[in-house]
This record gives sequence, C-alpha cells and structure tokens, in this order.
Amino acid sequence: MTLVAVSKMQPETRIEEALAAGQLVFGENRVQEAITRWQHRRAAHPDLELRLVGPLQTNKAEDAVALFDVIETLDREKLARAILKAMEKTGRTPRLYVQVNTGEEPQKAGITPKNVPAFVAEMRAAMPQGIEGLMCIPPVDEPASLHFALLAKLAKAAGVEKLSMGMSADYALAARMGATSVRVGSALFGAREG
Ligand SMILES: *Cc1c(COP(=O)(O)O)cnc(C)c1O
Repeated sequence: MTLVAVSKMQPETRIEEALAAGQLVFGENRVQEAITRWQHRRAAHPDLELRLVGPLQTNKAEDAVALFDVIETLDREKLARAILKAMEKTGRTPRLYVQVNTGEEPQKAGITPKNVPAFVAEMRAAMPQGIEGLMCIPPVDEPASLHFALLAKLAKAAGVEKLSMGMSADYALAARMGATSVRVGSALFGAREG
C-alpha cells in the first residue's frame, strides 16, 4: 500500500515536515503548481516520486511528462498522443493510470466504465510502458464502497494490476477493498490554504 501525500495548496512548512518524516510519494493536481513546488527539490530528494492526480490538458503534457513519475489521469486518446510525443522529446516514461468516471458524472473526467476494456487495450498497444493501474474519484453523494468495488472489478477484467482509490474521508475503506495506493491530503496535512 502506497500513501500518496496530496500536497496541493499546502504551506511549505508542512511539505518540509512530511519530507523530514520520510514521506517520498506526493500527489499534485496542477502541473504549474507542482513544478514550482517540486522541481527544485529533486536534487535534494532523488528518491522522490511525484504523481499527477488532477486533469491534464494536452498543452501541459510536456511539462507533466518532464516532472511527474506517475500520471494517474489518462482519460482520452488525444492526451495519450500528447504524452507519447512528450515522452519522445523528454526521454522520460512516466507510469500511467487510466482515470475511470465510475459515477458517470458529466462534470467529471474519466473513461466511463463500459469503455474501460477497449480504452485500456488501446492504451496498452499505444504506450510502451503499458497501463499500471486504474484511478477513480467517487461521487460525493454516493457510498464510496460501490465505486471502489466497481473499479476493482474493472481492473481485474482488464488485467490491470494497481488501484488508486480512497482519499481523506475513505482511505481506510479503500484499503480494505483492495486499493494499492490511497491519495490523502487534508487528513495528513490539515486543511488546505485558500
Ligand atoms: C485533492 C485530491 C485528493 C486529496 O483530497 P483530500 O480529501 O484532501 O484527502 C485526492 N485525489 C485527488 C484527485 C485530489 O484532487
């Protein structure tokens, strides 16, 4: 089980405390904020693992590939093409997760559950590193357990190994339901700024 410490909008002192305590895996949801926060820390922390957990625009793909070790929000072909191009240019090969919109919410990013098998197969063929896992953000007004179970089922059917699910409110539940990583922000750092 990997604890992804989601450091978006947290004060620098809390980031330094987490690093001092030995935390090495961090999540961010904005590319620019992540660059500002993390690029200069790479040298002092060579074992750092940075994960993008927020939506990625194609025009930010190169910056994202240059910085992140894991991109958890692959959700469309156009983005896959931009990531491929950025991989060629930068020589980096971030690990990839497909984001699944388990609640089929119109405002939320992600592949709909019924399209997961075809999309994963297509991405496996297109991306040299393959697909490491699936990621979901359940609807706020529904029991998360239903969505965690669905994500686990989809991953199993697609032969995908890892599951990124569970946040501050439900990481323990997610862990019991097979999460291989949980993304925890406020429960770890306290309330975000701004
Ligand atoms: C902000 C965020 C988290 C962390 O949320 P908390 O409720 O503070 O734990 C996890 N995943 C994603 C995708 C996020 O954007």
